[in-house]
Amino acid sequence: MTEAETAAPHTQGRAWSFLVTGDDRQFQGNAGYEDVVEESYSYDSTVNNHQHVGVGDLVVVRNGGEALGVGYIEALQVLPEQEKVRSRCPFCGSTGFKERATMMPRFWCSPCKRAFDDPLTETLSVTAFRAHYGGTWQPLDGCLDKVQLRELSPSRSHQQSIKKMHRRLTVEAIEARGVRLPNRSEVGSGGGRRPQELPGGSRRATASVRRGQDGFRRALVRQYGLICAVTGPAPAEVLEAAHLRPFADTQHHRLEEGLMMRSDVHRLFDSGLLAIDSGLTVHVAPSLAGHELYSALAGVTLHIAHDAPIDRAVIADHHAATVATW
Ligand SMILES: [Zn+2]
Repeated sequence: MTEAETAAPHTQGRAWSFLVTGDDRQFQGNAGYEDVVEESYSYDSTVNNHQHVGVGDLVVVRNGGEALGVGYIEALQVLPEQEKVRSRCPFCGSTGFKERATMMPRFWCSPCKRAFDDPLTETLSVTAFRAHYGGTWQPLDGCLDKVQLRELSPSRSHQQSIKKMHRRLTVEAIEARGVRLPNRSEVGSGGGRRPQELPGGSRRATASVRRGQDGFRRALVRQYGLICAVTGPAPAEVLEAAHLRPFADTQHHRLEEGLMMRSDVHRLFDSGLLAIDSGLTVHVAPSLAGHELYSALAGVTLHIAHDAPIDRAVIADHHAATVATW
């Protein structure tokens, strides 16, 4: 593969972030589809920037707080003349009102500060779009937060559903967090024939929700990115939060007592077959000498910053207790 081929997908096309609201990873898009965050995103011609989005563009999917994942648009479905019902405040005509959880009247319009039971509705004819990116999707698991995302966008508006991003800066930022996007030439071109139902997407969404619920892992991802401390960048799906002190010994989880590890490395670490000294050098049990994949890790320095907030006394304890058994 030539340098030019490697570089091409990163420099061609535009970059966007797509906003997903709410906690639900399976959400109702405007086109009436059930979108899965990990697969596709639906929008329509009432959304700013809709006309600029195209195949080959890079998209970061975000919620209100952080980046969920990234991919290239592999296919774009266009559905003209779709009916869309839009609701407005009966007093001021704004669409910026909210439904209240318990208080009556049901709706509150913050632009004109009035409450009402029945919004005005109108039916519009819109063009609906569905962008597919699931074939290149890489989970970001919150390794970039909303403040970092803002710095990657030329737009100062934070509520936009489709927000322009600096493509080069975005690619650089996610690569620095250990994320490795495939080249488009390596992905194949089946994007135009995607099924409506995406059970694979739902499975990925479930796994991703599970990872997101681990607060200790979330904190470590925010600190270290999607990078195994021992082996380097790895897919989010195989990266785990490793406790440097055995889990039972401590009630709360300090960031200083954790590292991101690939699941197999984590297992070796917990099994006393791999240890890290206070100089952050990796040691491997002599019993693994026949497994080149792992014995090659001996002598490696951890893939973390020099000023990383790691508790060296805790790691030295683990090291001493582990090598004593070798
Ligand atoms: Zn109003």
